[in-house]
Amino acid sequence: MNTIAFIGLGNMGSPMAENLLKAGCHVRVYDLNIEAAKALGEAGAVVASSLEQAVEGVDTVITMLPAGEHVRAVYLGDHQGGVGLLNLVSKGTLLIDSSTIDPASARLVAGEAAKKGLEFVDAPVSGGVAGAVAGTLTFIVGGTEQGFEHAKQVLQHVGKNIFHAGQAGDGQMAKICNNLMLGILMSGTCEALSLGIDNGLDPQVLSEIMLQSSGRNWALELYNPCPGVMAQAPASNSYKPGFMTKLMLKDLGLGLEAAQQSQSAIPLGSLARNLYAFHNAKGNAELDFSSMFSFYRDKQQS
Ligand code: NAD
Repeated sequence: MNTIAFIGLGNMGSPMAENLLKAGCHVRVYDLNIEAAKALGEAGAVVASSLEQAVEGVDTVITMLPAGEHVRAVYLGDHQGGVGLLNLVSKGTLLIDSSTIDPASARLVAGEAAKKGLEFVDAPVSGGVAGAVAGTLTFIVGGTEQGFEHAKQVLQHVGKNIFHAGQAGDGQMAKICNNLMLGILMSGTCEALSLGIDNGLDPQVLSEIMLQSSGRNWALELYNPCPGVMAQAPASNSYKPGFMTKLMLKDLGLGLEAAQQSQSAIPLGSLARNLYAFHNAKGNAELDFSSMFSFYRDKQQS
């Protein structure tokens, strides 16, 4: 059974690490937020107080961090003298980054890892916190065929669908395309529900109608943004994340960066990014991204 270091125990990392424990893996955990690590300790993980301690004697490392700068710091080291993972793990260790980050950072880390004879794959996920808890996440892997096959053995404990998108960084690119669409769909879903409410419709009934009609989408199906429509959705729990608004803003920004590089037109993605930027700036950064619904509702009341 694998001995895994899990770094980054936030909304996604914690339930993923818990599922690895349930699958019988030995798990060593580390997070800058010691409370998050301690909670995993109660579930059977070894709590490490440093990155060095976390990766001692492991055969696999999984990182689940906010953004590219955190991933670069953890793998390559930071300017404050923190030593990067690549200098701490032993040869043969499999490195899996499941954060959503820019493809260039993923390729940079993969290249540096390869120079040290280490296998690194980017493996961002889709499925949200509910998917992480249920162990049904979709993994979108970028890396060599060998890295993919190797990572699949571990990721099957936390996910259901595991795709090989292509070479290093391609997992991130596919994930960015997916989240560009998600940002647009969530905004569109909020807009349609808000229009219906303003015109006297019951959002519950409208949601049921659209679910059986051509407006059907993931947000309507599993993540309804209108409070009270879906008991388990963040909207019915004061928009507690879930997937924070600031992370959706980051992902739409990654879409924009990629589009600039490839000179692609993404008018809807750019608009969704602007909507999220306004919503984020209004003090909603740490709320779930479905709180975009209040952007539409607040505007109507003013
Ligand atoms: P989060 O902010 O809840 O968790 C990130 C964790 O990383 C925090 O606990 C933080 O303390 C820790 N961390 C940051 N820097 C660190 C460092 N140097 N060393 C150790 N720990 C460090 O974020 P999340 O929602 O769990 O998302 C993580 C990643 O997964 C993001 O890239 C996000 O875009 C992506 N993602 C999130 C969801 C979701 O629904 N929340 C879904 C798919 C993908």
